[in-house]
Amino acid sequence: MSAEPNALCFGQEFPSSGEPCLVQVEDHGITVIFQSGAAEGRSESASFSALTVAAGGFDHDQLVVRWAGAAGERTLYLRHPDVIRAFRQAAPDQLRAPLDRAAEHVRQARHRRRTVWSMIGGGVLALSLGLWFGSDLLVEMAVDRIPVEWEEKLGESAYKDFLAHQDVMKEGLAVSAVEEITHRLVEQIPNNPYKFQVTVVKSDVVNAFALPGGYIVVFTGLMKKADNGEEVAGVMGHELNHVLQRHGLERIVKQLGLVAVLSIVLGDHQGLAGMMKQLGVELLTLKFGREQETEADLTGLQLLHRAKIDPSGMIRFFEQLSEKDEGRTEWLSTHPMSGARAERLKAELAAMPKMIPAPFSFDWTKVRGALGGEPVAKP
Ligand SMILES: [Zn+2]
Repeated sequence: MSAEPNALCFGQEFPSSGEPCLVQVEDHGITVIFQSGAAEGRSESASFSALTVAAGGFDHDQLVVRWAGAAGERTLYLRHPDVIRAFRQAAPDQLRAPLDRAAEHVRQARHRRRTVWSMIGGGVLALSLGLWFGSDLLVEMAVDRIPVEWEEKLGESAYKDFLAHQDVMKEGLAVSAVEEITHRLVEQIPNNPYKFQVTVVKSDVVNAFALPGGYIVVFTGLMKKADNGEEVAGVMGHELNHVLQRHGLERIVKQLGLVAVLSIVLGDHQGLAGMMKQLGVELLTLKFGREQETEADLTGLQLLHRAKIDPSGMIRFFEQLSEKDEGRTEWLSTHPMSGARAERLKAELAAMPKMIPAPFSFDWTKVRGALGGEPVAKP
């Protein structure tokens, strides 16, 4: 099999950014073939009767197919027009109505885009704004105009969606340790508009991520790799700052493009709300830019310093993660530890005033012990 991947598959064992795969449409249903990643060489089939479909993607031009497979929940984003066409042709009558609704979504999204464009009018204006857009200034202007409540709604739905398929830890040493770390950091954020919510997910995946609006997920796999609370605090300081600097919104606005930016700047929140409603899963796949990562690193380090948490734990952990990478370190795949990154952090740390760290109240050995003693993933 040498065909190019034509879809992205999401599931518990796949990277949070999805696993590229090849979808083949057959008479009875679909077969998904994985040509790379953890599932390389495997294929999974699902019959049409097991599937639900909806429109999705930033432009509502992707077909989202969900089912509960033998290996767990599956969400597939079909991007390629050929595979979407083949799917529509082969799908039985019971999928006809949702497929028509999905097609209607696409038409509406395109209509909204046309409406906004006609509002803009003059091509000269569009052109000059287009050039301006390239400078990111317009993106920042648009992001500044998005109310926090909006951002929270957006993040919350993706957060709930994600957690619904995860083994969430409700209590225990690990949860209270993460709560203490969060509290120590959040206390030091002046004029903080966010009610940060942090959830510990039982999973061997070495990862942590933040969604717009202040929703943060820490995997037990990451905690088990840490030698102390300061190291976990380093990752959290970085993630909290992605939220505070509104990096997620910047990415969304950039991906939605000029029209979305103009809608926000011109005050037309309505059309955009519709576009963003479908963003749920995509938020989890947002990749930040290099400047955003650097900003989160440096502001994270400063936050740790203000919270009197030893910031050297952050640097050490980032370096250690890259040394011990055993293939499941998701966080590293989105946060590659380059020499330049480490050097920048070390230089920043060296320039900071001396600080006497205040210890955490938990005993990290016990926290980690508690995690090791428990079953880590659902069967
Ligand atoms: Zn980051």
